[in-house]
Amino acid sequence: MLNIILFGPPGAGKGTQSEKLILKYKLVHLSTGDIFRKNIKGETALGQLAKSFMDSGQLVPDQVTISMLEQEVNKSPNAKGFIFDGFPRTTAQAEALDNLLKSKGTSITMMLALEVKEDELKKRLLLRGKESGRPDDQNPQVIQKRIDVYNNETAPVKNYYSAQKKYIGVKGLGLIEEIFNSLCDAIDIKLGLKKPAKKKVASKKIVAKKAPVKKAVKKVAKKTVKKVVKKADKRIVKKIVKKAVLKKVVKKVIKKVAKKAPVKKTSVKKATKKIVKKLAKKVVKPIQAKAVKKSTKKVVAKKKKK
Ligand code: ADP
Repeated sequence: MLNIILFGPPGAGKGTQSEKLILKYKLVHLSTGDIFRKNIKGETALGQLAKSFMDSGQLVPDQVTISMLEQEVNKSPNAKGFIFDGFPRTTAQAEALDNLLKSKGTSITMMLALEVKEDELKKRLLLRGKESGRPDDQNPQVIQKRIDVYNNETAPVKNYYSAQKKYIGVKGLGLIEEIFNSLCDAIDIKLGLKKPAKKKVASKKIVAKKAPVKKAVKKVAKKTVKKVVKKADKRIVKKIVKKAVLKKVVKKVIKKVAKKAPVKKTSVKKATKKIVKKLAKKVVKPIQAKAVKKSTKKVVAKKKKK
């Protein structure tokens, strides 16, 4: 089974992402908030009990929530897996969930957490309140209370699953589709369907800091510039040109290549050669032209003197 806890503060986007995830992975969506709201609408005893807690931004007592969730899980004996959305919200709920799944011969696969900053949450919740009419999203004080309850009672659930190496944080800011893709990547990696992106590891061959890159670049640049200038035009005052080109090119190359550190030594060489050749050709011409002007001026002046 694939059992995912979609975790995060109120307004993080758990409901939106759950809807998309259950379609892709064929899971059963269990949102305790939604179940409570259904019960309130249907005026059941459970609804009546939950209402006062929800309206004031508090958690519905653990016992009530846990037994309700157990009943919901039992309603889907053939499920391929579940997405738990809004549950567990306390460590006691997490323990109860672990025990329940264990009794069914399964367990939580992973906790995916949507990470969103507090000021963004408040904005989103107030907007949702306007659009949906949800009473707990319309009152800034109730919103603050829910965020406080989250920080005090729910956030510690993260540690509970971190200790089991099941916690994965995902940035909850950006386009819905982008966030969805990040969640899918995390799931696919966990299921072994996808390889994790390789991190660049600094090996011995790698020049890790800017200073050695600069040195390497200067060395290669000098050599390459010499070649380019030689080829360019032997008749022109070679010395002046070489100096000027070197000055200009090395500066540019360092800027371009050193920015990318760490870089492999071989790629520093390659990149430098390429850039130097390109840039040298660009700067050689105007400098040469200037040099020609200068030397002809001198010649003309000399002739005039005569
Ligand atoms: P949100 O995540 O935006 O706060 P939910 O729909 O998940 O919205 O929850 C709404 C309210 O329902 C909560 O503020 C709380 O009162 C109650 N509730 C939902 N899930 C639980 C839970 N697991 N334990 C206790 N109370 C819950």
